[in-house]
Amino acid sequence: MAQDKKAVIVGAGLIGALWSVFLAKRGYTVDVYERRADFRQAGYVGGRSINLALSERGWKAVEIAGIREKIERVAIPMPGRMMHGTDGSLTFQPYGHDGQAIYSVSRGGLNIELVNIADEYPNVSFHFNQACLGIDPENNTARFQDTRTGVEYAIESDLVFGTDGAFSPVRQSLQKLPRFNYSQQYIDYGYKELCIPPNEDGSHRMDTGALHIWPRGNFMLIALPNVDGSFTCTLFLPFDGEESFENLNSDEQVMAFFGKYFPDAIPLMPTLLEDFHGNPTSALHTVRCNPWHYKHKVLLIGDAAHAIVPFFGQGMNCGFEDCTILDTLMDKYEEHWPSIIEEFNANRPEDSNAIADLALLNFIEMRDKVADPKFLLWKKVEKHLSEKFPAEFQSVYSMVSFSHVPYSQALAAVGQQEDLFRRMLKINDLESNWTGPEVERVFREWLSEQGRP
Ligand SMILES: Cc1cc2nc3c(=O)[nH]c(=O)nc-3n(C[C@H](O)[C@H](O)[C@H](O)COP(=O)(O)OP(=O)(O)OC[C@H]3O[C@@H](n4cnc5c(N)ncnc54)[C@H](O)[C@@H]3O)c2cc1C
Repeated sequence: MAQDKKAVIVGAGLIGALWSVFLAKRGYTVDVYERRADFRQAGYVGGRSINLALSERGWKAVEIAGIREKIERVAIPMPGRMMHGTDGSLTFQPYGHDGQAIYSVSRGGLNIELVNIADEYPNVSFHFNQACLGIDPENNTARFQDTRTGVEYAIESDLVFGTDGAFSPVRQSLQKLPRFNYSQQYIDYGYKELCIPPNEDGSHRMDTGALHIWPRGNFMLIALPNVDGSFTCTLFLPFDGEESFENLNSDEQVMAFFGKYFPDAIPLMPTLLEDFHGNPTSALHTVRCNPWHYKHKVLLIGDAAHAIVPFFGQGMNCGFEDCTILDTLMDKYEEHWPSIIEEFNANRPEDSNAIADLALLNFIEMRDKVADPKFLLWKKVEKHLSEKFPAEFQSVYSMVSFSHVPYSQALAAVGQQEDLFRRMLKINDLESNWTGPEVERVFREWLSEQGRP
């Protein structure tokens, strides 16, 4: 049913590399064009966060690609958050049930693994140092430039996948077409990567079984473990205002800021000043667009179609899920691309818009709410309910990170669960009775009001 089983992929990042494996498995001849040099030799220059949280949706795609075991060996489980108070206190909050975790994985390591796997297929060819300049959808051509020689050329293809990231040149070409909807929204916060190096003996300086957070109301610092004993830290802070990047210029300002808000992190970060001044301050934005395709011949997936802010750790997971869903649709429609793309584009944007919204909401949770005792109490109730009534209750966090429930369903549950939270808070001395009969009564009442017995 497929036309001639040939495809061009623009961008060999996480999504493009994975997608090439999916297509290769089905016998497609795949040409992947990547602007960067081959990072297996040149070294991985990600430019963005060196480790990422991989969760259930991502694992499923990694499994289909056939590299689950390889990635498992280098993935560090983070079963919960470790909150760092300004007084140095630590509070651990599990993300889900016992045995559930999100995993810290190296972005570069994962990307290299995916390219290596794809490269083992004789029907996949990688073309590095080739920058896409745009596409001409009417003529089925994509234009490229060899970044070493400057030579420009065009490639003809009936099936082009734009996996070229948040600033996708493929998408930019579609943006020029009539009736293409597009928006990008920057948040007022930037981020800077910092580092907690290993101890001299190579061990980690903090507990590796957690994503560490220093929530400070309007801003936060987080840290994810790496296999080499280090942690990659990210400071999320407003660009402007009293406590902001614009006011952190001198060594004194940086040290005073960290001394006030993250005192326990200072002894762990011997290269703090060097990293702070040396690393860029990057911006964060959400991209929404529609349609994601042009005449069923060009399709955007991953960040090219839906870049989101990183606060739910779902950007890559969502892009990987794009691949899983397309794979299912390839079965359903026997590789008839117009039908596959039509259904994908009819449903998937609602879910990617939902995770975009959820990611923005989760920023408030991470930087602010996690330090609130009432919120921590709610998390205990939530855990209790999901363990006692697994068929009736799943927290929004679990739906997103530990399930394949459509993101739009998880977004719809936010308001309902907030309502339940408000009702629970009215229970007398909930702090001592969070597993008591009144909790169950309120829960059942809430359920039945939603028409669920
Ligand atoms: C700070 C931060 C933290 C994050 N944390 C997480 C997390 O914990 N979990 C998670 O799931 N997601 C996370 N993300 C999101 C995740 O990084 C992205 O969703 C993911 O990288 C998207 O993959 P992609 O392949 O679509 O795009 P990219 O990874 O951006 O890859 C695009 C590829 O296209 C290539 N390219 C670009 N332009 C051209 C061109 N003109 N020609 C040819 N090739 C081109 C690029 O070189 C690159 O290789 C985070 C993002 C940020 C910024």
